[in-house]
Amino acid sequence: MKIQIRNGRVFEEQGCFTEKTLYILDEKLVTEAEYFKGEGREEIVDANGSYVIPGLTDVHFHGCMGYDCCDGTREAFEAMIDYEVHQGVTTITPATMTMPEEVLLQVARAARETAASKGRVLQGLYMEGPFISMAKKGAQNGAYVHKPDLEMLKRLQEASGNMFRAVVVAPETEGAMEFIKEASRSVTVSLAHTAADYETARQALENGASQMTHLYNGMNGFTHRAPGPIGAAADHESCRAELICDGQHIHPAVVRTTFRMFGDDRMILISDSMRAAGMPDGDYELGGQKVIVKGTQAVLEDGTLAGSVTNLMDCVRTAVKKMGIPLGSAVKAAAVNSAKAVHIFDEFGSLVPGKYANVVLLNENLDTEQVYLCGQRIVG
Ligand SMILES: [Zn+2]
Repeated sequence: MKIQIRNGRVFEEQGCFTEKTLYILDEKLVTEAEYFKGEGREEIVDANGSYVIPGLTDVHFHGCMGYDCCDGTREAFEAMIDYEVHQGVTTITPATMTMPEEVLLQVARAARETAASKGRVLQGLYMEGPFISMAKKGAQNGAYVHKPDLEMLKRLQEASGNMFRAVVVAPETEGAMEFIKEASRSVTVSLAHTAADYETARQALENGASQMTHLYNGMNGFTHRAPGPIGAAADHESCRAELICDGQHIHPAVVRTTFRMFGDDRMILISDSMRAAGMPDGDYELGGQKVIVKGTQAVLEDGTLAGSVTNLMDCVRTAVKKMGIPLGSAVKAAAVNSAKAVHIFDEFGSLVPGKYANVVLLNENLDTEQVYLCGQRIVG
């Protein structure tokens, strides 16, 4: 199968858009020369001025459509994949919660089986807890908080076939600095659910941590005499920072300021969605705790925000339409930087020849018109 997508404004890795034709041969993007050498039935798509962007990568979300990563079943992963790809979120590394090791092992095994049988969407897992601080646990379940434990991480990597791409750590906890030095050799170490001050976070970043999990949420704030982990992350030029852009977790002015402070090369948009994403209002569960969902908010019974009920494509729309982030910067943060953060950028995350043809067409209003998953049209 060969597809030409003509007359689109095509996203470039630097964050700009160029009018050009995109060439797809079977499951990959190819050069014009390779395309015309290739065999197969041809389809010509007129993008008619639409934005043509790479499929997004959500590195940090817990669930959707009534399912959660921690259900630990193939059924859950398959339902999550199905929902996400139809939104244009074509690669995912769903996040576990602070849970007992037996539960995490079951999630690891189910993810491994799903990834082997269900194509190229499930690219890994994200371990949010249990290596966090009780003081900043947020919606994580305090009953299962555990000090950083390399052996536990190894057991989980073994069960999953090395699918854990990132692990969250509170750097002030017992043994955290040693853990960060070792773990960062093989996975991304991300800081959050932490009461760390500037100095402790700075040391963690020097020891190999390279990312901030949902910046601002689950950590001390950024104030003029106590810059905390946010100031340490801004100072450390290779550190990327996640932002939940559901319009609930972070004020638009803070989103704009953070893009300026870090630059759009270092921002990662995430949804941090829980199982109610894509579902009606009602009572749900997250990490063994009751969550009440109403409109665009999900909260624990005490009012603590408990993940979002959005998806990453909607976060891009929110960032652009309600927060004033340029579309090129938002797509960079949700496709390029996120793919780099979980080490899949050589195959996904931008529209250059050689990568898998995960492509989304958005109209002027940023509504999804078409989605291609590895060269197959699944929406539009
Ligand atoms: Zn989360």
